[in-house]
Amino acid sequence: MFLTSAAAALIMLMTPVRADPSSLPVVASFSILGDLVKSVGGDRVDVATIVGANGDAHVYQPTPRDGRKLAAARLVFVNGLGFEGWIDRLIAASKTKANIVTASKSVTARAGEHGVDPHAWQDVANALIYVANIRDALIEADPQGAEFYKANANAYQAKLTALDEDIRQGVASIPKERRRIVSTHDAFGYFAARYGLEFIAPQGVSTESEASARDIARIIEAAKQHKVAAVFLETIVDPRLTQRIAAETGAKVGGALYSDSLSDATGPAATYIDMMRHNVRELTKAFAPPPQPSPATRERE
Ligand SMILES: [Zn+2]
Repeated sequence: MFLTSAAAALIMLMTPVRADPSSLPVVASFSILGDLVKSVGGDRVDVATIVGANGDAHVYQPTPRDGRKLAAARLVFVNGLGFEGWIDRLIAASKTKANIVTASKSVTARAGEHGVDPHAWQDVANALIYVANIRDALIEADPQGAEFYKANANAYQAKLTALDEDIRQGVASIPKERRRIVSTHDAFGYFAARYGLEFIAPQGVSTESEASARDIARIIEAAKQHKVAAVFLETIVDPRLTQRIAAETGAKVGGALYSDSLSDATGPAATYIDMMRHNVRELTKAFAPPPQPSPATRERE
C-alpha cells in the first residue's frame, strides 16, 4: 500500500516524539547522520531526525516540533564544521539538557571555496571517525549498552571499510583523463580528495546563495576548458542550472548524485552505504568510455 505524502505527513505528526520509552531518545540533525546513529545504536536508541530525506540542511528552517524533539533528547548529534547554521539557535530555544555531540570531531577539515567544507562524510574514512564518535557518545550516555554499541560499531565499520575499497575500485575503472565532473554544489571535495576525481561546482559550498550569472559563465568556461565529459544534477538544487551548462558545453547530464541527504526509503540512497554505492554507480556509468564498435560494425566502415 502506498500512502499519499499528505497521509504520510499526517502519520508523522501523530507519531509521538519518543516511540519506545525504554530506548535512548536521540536526535540527529540530518538524514545521513541519522542513518549512522541508527547503525550504531540499533534497538537501544530512538533516533529522531531533523532534516529528513531529500531535505537541504544548509537552508533548513527549524519548527517548534524540532524544538520538542531536542527537549526530549538525551543526545543531539550534529555534523559540525558549520553545516547546520541554524542549530545553535534551535538548541537554545529548546532549552534541551541533551549532550551535543559533534560527529565530525577529529576529522581533518578541508577548506572549501567559502570557508570550511562541511561535507566530510563524503570520504568514507571520515565516516569511520563519525561512527567512533557516535559509539563513544552512546556508551557515555548508556553505559549498560557499551558492549552492544561496540559490536554494532565494529560490524558497521567493517562494512564501511569494504565500501571504501569498492569506491576506490569503481573510480579506478574510470579512465584518469575522464575523471572531471561538474556538479551543482561544491559537496564532493572530500570525495574527490580521497578517491582521485576533480569536481567543478558552479555554486559555493553552501546552497544558501544563488549562483550568479558570472558563476555560471565561469563554470561553462571551465567545463569547456577541462573538456568535462559529464555534468551531474544534484538532488537539492534547481536542475535547470546544470541542464543549461550541459547544453552549452556538450557534456552528458548524469543521474542524480546524493550529497547532503538520503533518498526516502524506496529511493536509491536510503542509507549512507546505499548512497555512496549509488553515487559511484552513476559516476562510472557516465564516465565509461563510449562503447567500442563491434568487429562487424568496423568491417562495414
Ligand atoms: Zn551541501
